[in-house]
Amino acid sequence: MNESMPVHRLFPCRCGYDLRGRAVGETCPECGWVIDAPGLSWWTADCLHRLARMSRLAWIPCLLLLAVPALFVLLVTGSLLSVGGDGGWIATIVAFLILMPLQIVTQAVAVWRMAMPELGPARVRTLRVAMVARIAAFAMVVALLAVDALLASTRSGAFDGMYVAAYLLAPLLAIGSDFVTLGVLGSLRRESSALVSGWHAVMPPLARWGLIGVYLLILVPFLGWFFAPIAWTVTMAIGFAQVGAVAEVCRRQLP
Ligand SMILES: [Zn+2]
Repeated sequence: MNESMPVHRLFPCRCGYDLRGRAVGETCPECGWVIDAPGLSWWTADCLHRLARMSRLAWIPCLLLLAVPALFVLLVTGSLLSVGGDGGWIATIVAFLILMPLQIVTQAVAVWRMAMPELGPARVRTLRVAMVARIAAFAMVVALLAVDALLASTRSGAFDGMYVAAYLLAPLLAIGSDFVTLGVLGSLRRESSALVSGWHAVMPPLARWGLIGVYLLILVPFLGWFFAPIAWTVTMAIGFAQVGAVAEVCRRQLP
């Protein structure tokens, strides 16, 4: 261990008991755990710096994605009609075709990079499995659309059944993986007991459980199809922003 590190505990116990200020080697009076380190293994400048950077890489594209519904609203309310003809529709579709893959890729990269060994093997495994499941969900949709486009002329009724299955399963897989991802990331705040602002403490758990509502909303035609993706991307922005806030607070307390 680095000699410049303090030998006193910087964090409460896993059981919640406040061990701060107690020496390494002492025992938790509440649960009997022997204090083995001043802090958590991810409590290093490098890890916190990476968490902060990956937090930004993840939440900013989530909010950029809101440009798509914003353009759509401008379009249907007529404000974009001045663009002339199909210009407004093309702008909306191009924004979607750029920002949606951008969000998927940046989230995948951010989650993969956040899954550092210092977070522990269980967290690394869970984050990576969730990340792969999320990519698989979107790949399933793209593959289905591609196959459908190729077979458009010879389509049979059986294919409609596949559409229904994909409509039910792909969002379930993607939202389920996001629910798991935000659960793991939220555990960093609880573990560090980082004193983040009220917003970053209260909103992420609410947003995470709100993902269940997002899935149900996706099943509601038209209104749900419009509002569910907005709620979904805002949820993810809130969840990822929390990681950055936790990393910043922890970084300021670094010895
Ligand atoms: Zn304890």
